[in-house]
Amino acid sequence: MQTLMLPSIISHAKEYGFIFPSSEMYDGLQAVYDYGQYGIALKRNLQNLWWQTMTQLHSHIVGLDSAILMHPAVWKASGHVDSFADLMVDNKDSKKRYRVDMLIENHAEALTAAGQEDEAKQLLAQLQSLLQKDDLVGLHTLLLEAAITCPVAKTSHWTDVRKLNLMFATKVGAIESEADTIYLRPETAQGIYLNFLHVAHTARMKVPFGIAQIGKAFRNEIVARQFIFRMREFEQMEMQFFIQPGTDKQWFDYWQNLRWQWYQALGIPKEKLKIKPHDQLAHYAQAAVDIEYQFPFGYKEVEGIHARGDFDLKRHAQASRKKVQYFDPELNQSYIPHVVETSVGCDRLILMLLCEAFTQESQVENGVSKERTYLKLHPALAPIKAAIFPLVKKDGLPAKAQQLFDALKYDFALTYEENQSIGKRYTRQDLIGTPYCITIDHQTLEDDTVTLRHRDSMAQERVAITSLQGFLTETVSLKRILQDCHV
Ligand code: ATP
Repeated sequence: MQTLMLPSIISHAKEYGFIFPSSEMYDGLQAVYDYGQYGIALKRNLQNLWWQTMTQLHSHIVGLDSAILMHPAVWKASGHVDSFADLMVDNKDSKKRYRVDMLIENHAEALTAAGQEDEAKQLLAQLQSLLQKDDLVGLHTLLLEAAITCPVAKTSHWTDVRKLNLMFATKVGAIESEADTIYLRPETAQGIYLNFLHVAHTARMKVPFGIAQIGKAFRNEIVARQFIFRMREFEQMEMQFFIQPGTDKQWFDYWQNLRWQWYQALGIPKEKLKIKPHDQLAHYAQAAVDIEYQFPFGYKEVEGIHARGDFDLKRHAQASRKKVQYFDPELNQSYIPHVVETSVGCDRLILMLLCEAFTQESQVENGVSKERTYLKLHPALAPIKAAIFPLVKKDGLPAKAQQLFDALKYDFALTYEENQSIGKRYTRQDLIGTPYCITIDHQTLEDDTVTLRHRDSMAQERVAITSLQGFLTETVSLKRILQDCHV
């Protein structure tokens, strides 16, 4: 049931205007997607929520929007030019390409599922050790020794293991032969590090303080299946928190707790979330965990929380030969601050929200069993907050409905619909996750009451028009989630 769900979600997202494959007229571009009318509204709501959580609830975090293109030396200093690479291998029979670590990890998962836990653990330990030593030949041998086969061809005719840098390179300058290679940023964090001193000075920020940024990132992923989980162009929401050296553990725990709570505030059930410490820490990292969500294809990372020490600022100070020092009036000394980062993929969160919201239920209506599909999105994140319908297209009902639409449209994202039967109009709103439908009928003309229909329960109640503004403010505002974040 679980594994069948992803294809249903993908086709639902396309059919109802959430997510379209990019360039579909030309057979698509792998791992690139476009957000449709409802998808972008959902994404904006999610981004606003994250942005407000970070910058509004914390007086010591401010925002930034740095450019996608940066000086190529940035990526040399950050280590991305030399080591932001995945190890890949091709199967000679199926011609399919895989990430070696993923092939081995999936095999270990299958061993665990088959009760061979010791073998799985040993395999993962071997993988970590070979990755640490950068031993490509050893990894190839491990694939053969563990009899790992291609899921398509079912053979183990593997090519040599090779490295592929994940950054997209392009040229800047008018004459191509003279132009410099630059990169599309593979993460937004470096733009924050480079602006650290600007922000500290102009915002008069004192450590500890944070800088938050939402923006596009690009990675030439080798394996790009699983819909918007792994894309080549995606959006990150990252916050870098600058702290006094020595307070790393304290702030790492603080951010891990707060980010964990954020998912609860969103309404994601605790049992579908996991905190996974990294098996292998990057050489500069002091601590790192992933927050994982149980997707239809297993528990996978949605967010990383990393204590990065002074690695990034120090590298940029060394490479640029500029001083990146912060004078701490409290300690009366200068130092390079340490960093704890929270880094989440916006698109992965959208997939998580769609997986949580997509609901198919059977119900019996007049003795007939019917399937009902709807999106149980949090009202504050739903693309449309309320749909306004005149019951019929005559007797002055459309004018009255339009009047209500005009009164509420300044505060809420609404839709107005007068065609088709009321049942069909309800169904359509259910499919895009609209939490409330408001119907104007003949009684409305007499007593200014309307029928308010609730998406999840399908319950209908008669309410006064004058109560709608207050009701919607209470139920669809982001404030409800923000208050549950307990900052
Ligand atoms: P993975 O191990 O899944 O490749 P990562 O550890 O490389 O992810 P980070 O570099 O920590 O990811 O990036 C931070 C966040 O950005 C991830 O938690 C994820 O939500 C998101 N992200 C990373 N790569 C992609 C991608 N190709 N498509 C969509 N989101 C991504």
